[in-house]
Amino acid sequence: MTVRVRFAPSPTGMFHVGGARSALQNWIYAKQHEGVFVLRIEDTDAARNKPEWTEGILTALEWIGIARGSYEGPHFQSANAGEHRAAAERLHAGGRAYYCDCTRDQVQARTGSQYQGYDGFCRDRGLGPGEGRALRFRTPDEGETVVVDLIRGEPTFENKLIEDFVIARGDGSPVFLLANVVDDLTMGITHVIRAEEHLPNTPKQQLLWEALGATPPIWAHVPVVVNEKRQKLSKRRDKVALEAYRDEGYLPDAMRNYLMLLGWAPSGDREIVPWSVIESEFRLEEVNLSPAFFDEKKLRAFNGEYIRALPVEQFIEECRPWLTGTATIPPPPWQPEEFDEAAFNAVAELAQTRIAVLSEIVPNVDFLFLADPLIDEGAWAKAMKPGAAELLDAAVVAFEALPQWDAESLKAALEQVGTERGLKLGKAQAPVRVAVTGRTVGLPLFESMEVLGRERTLTRLRAARLRLP
Ligand code: GLU
Repeated sequence: MTVRVRFAPSPTGMFHVGGARSALQNWIYAKQHEGVFVLRIEDTDAARNKPEWTEGILTALEWIGIARGSYEGPHFQSANAGEHRAAAERLHAGGRAYYCDCTRDQVQARTGSQYQGYDGFCRDRGLGPGEGRALRFRTPDEGETVVVDLIRGEPTFENKLIEDFVIARGDGSPVFLLANVVDDLTMGITHVIRAEEHLPNTPKQQLLWEALGATPPIWAHVPVVVNEKRQKLSKRRDKVALEAYRDEGYLPDAMRNYLMLLGWAPSGDREIVPWSVIESEFRLEEVNLSPAFFDEKKLRAFNGEYIRALPVEQFIEECRPWLTGTATIPPPPWQPEEFDEAAFNAVAELAQTRIAVLSEIVPNVDFLFLADPLIDEGAWAKAMKPGAAELLDAAVVAFEALPQWDAESLKAALEQVGTERGLKLGKAQAPVRVAVTGRTVGLPLFESMEVLGRERTLTRLRAARLRLP
């Protein structure tokens, strides 16, 4: 039997990091079993779906390493609507489903308002189809439904506790629960790997598989991803969109490594591992049952490590979108013609060790390209303490006299200026740094001044001095 798994997102919003994790788990499972990964876009909720979200899913998958053309699909659930209806009709014709015209109020009047389910009132009324009549699945009165789940063992559900659930609405349209089963069945899906939130539906879906005369798939319900308060990650509250991380400058390799560590760990005492190791070592069966904490701080640290591990040429390439701007990344504060490739290349290695996400490259290097540095007024106030004016004056004199404009000479000169005033180098650097770069933190100061060049550095120091009383 060929393993066939599917990833079945609904195109109703930005691509959720939890979805990316499910996609990767499916992807790896297919790879490990020489199986097929199917992408199915579950687009039947016309009111909430937008085509651009579908495009977003394809692009996000590509970014995370699941390239178009390397999987089956995308199939679209809406294209299978005829099959969904036919399945509903078959279930009705076979006596496995019945029409029901009860309103919620009527059910509650009979059962009391506490009761959430359906009381089976129409089971044997023999109603035919008609406007406003829902089609309900006739669940077995006895026995139990045993779900075989690679992560959870065999969750068992008593059939008599499963209500006769609706499979087609009053207007005849099949509900998602049925459409999802029919698609999996017609697409020959053997393993359904998906989020835990679908587990309550699984016994119902398994009953549908059986009623449609097919062998249900093996299931794997992966625990939810939560925030630091142990709340399920939510679109409204948390940063969940994969695209947001991409645009901030997370590397796809770091992201997918991190996502796979949610609820699982590779062998040995390590977390940052090549993708090939994850692909061979990951075991769906080993995924932890407790909710997985999506720790953005840890992800940042991971990303920093991935950035530092890049060959510098690649780092330079990776930075490019932030240096120029794209449709989703805002342009940097300098004009395109102000950008100086050689200057950037000269500091790239220094920047590489200091940033955790690629977008941070911009505030680290903007002083090189802007005519005047963007002065952070808070930093200015902190650095320009009494004595700063005299220090800047002395620094200008010392720097002007340098025969050689390089980091080493600049450092020695400022050290000297500081010593004469009883200041350690760090203290002496602060006003110079703010004058030259606009900030209190950033790339190593002397290398920065070397790359910025004599004239521009001195002009900035003089300009800062003029601002001081
Ligand atoms: N379309 C469903 C979702 O986005 C997926 C259901 C499934 O994986 O079975 O949550």
